[in-house]
This record gives sequence, C-alpha cells and structure tokens, in this order.
Amino acid sequence: MPPLKTLEDLFVHELKDLYSAEQQLIKALPKMAKAASSEHLRAGFEEHLEQTKGHAERLEKILDDLGQSHRGTKCKAMEGLVEEGKQMIDEDAPPEVKDAGLIAAAQRVEHYEIAGYGTACTFAQILGHTEAEKMLHDTLQEERETDEKLSDLALSEINVAAQSVDGQE
Ligand code: FE
Ligand code: FE
Repeated sequence: MPPLKTLEDLFVHELKDLYSAEQQLIKALPKMAKAASSEHLRAGFEEHLEQTKGHAERLEKILDDLGQSHRGTKCKAMEGLVEEGKQMIDEDAPPEVKDAGLIAAAQRVEHYEIAGYGTACTFAQILGHTEAEKMLHDTLQEERETDEKLSDLALSEINVAAQSVDGQE
C-alpha cells in the first residue's frame, strides 16, 4: 500500500479494506448457510450472500471510477470474524443452539460492516464523491436491514428454539 498522505488516500484504503471484507464474506456465507438448521436462517444467509456480491460490485465500480485497483489490503478484522463463525460451525452443539450462535456471529459481521460503510460514506461526502456516497449509502442501508432481520429472526424463532433445548442428551 502507498503511504496515506491525504483523506483521499485513506478513503481508498477504506474502500479496499471493505472490498477484502466482502470477498471473505462471499466465501464464508455459503458455509454459514449450510451449517444453519433453520430454514429461515439458511434462506437469510443465502439472500445476504446475493446482496454481498452486489456490495463487492459496488466497491469495484467505485474503485474503478477512482482509477484504483481492487486489491492491496486484507481486512484482518473480517478474517477474525469469519474465523469465529467457522469455529461456531464446527462446534458440537444442538442444532437450535448452533443456529443462535451462527446469528450471533453474523450480527458481529453486520455491525463491523455498518461501522466501515458509515465511515466510508462520510469520507465520500466530505470529499465530494457524490456517486460513491450514494452507492456506499445503499450498501449501508442493506447491512442495517440485514442486521435488523437477524435480530427479528433471533427473537421470533431462533433464540426461542435454542432456549427450549434442555441439554440432557
Ligand atoms: Fe456487505
Ligand atoms: Fe453484510
């Protein structure tokens, strides 16, 4: 990575970091979906996988418009979050409890993305990158909606099912 001399440089750095994060998620979400026992949770992960591909495409477009490459940084935070998700997948737990754990891992990911896109969005705004700002805002909104959907699903179904497991086997 070139040195960060300006806010514009930092903006590009944040975009590449987000791009790396989305790429890692594109690989991780199918595994999360496969590990989910609840039909609703599996569908939720699959739906967000499609959205995530769109998020990566938006970042590609923004980086292309700025004349920047897509690569150059690895999002270590997402690497850690995905690793925690993987550990939950491998956990020897009743399916209902595992589903609650998968939601917990997924919501950590969404909150991380919300933070990253929030920052990128305000950078785009102050730097006058209007079109980038709009695309980043669209993604931010989708991440927020996903987080809310996961909260609703946890409350209405997943956590209730997990709570009813007696742990006796
Ligand atoms: Fe995303
Ligand atoms: Fe997301």
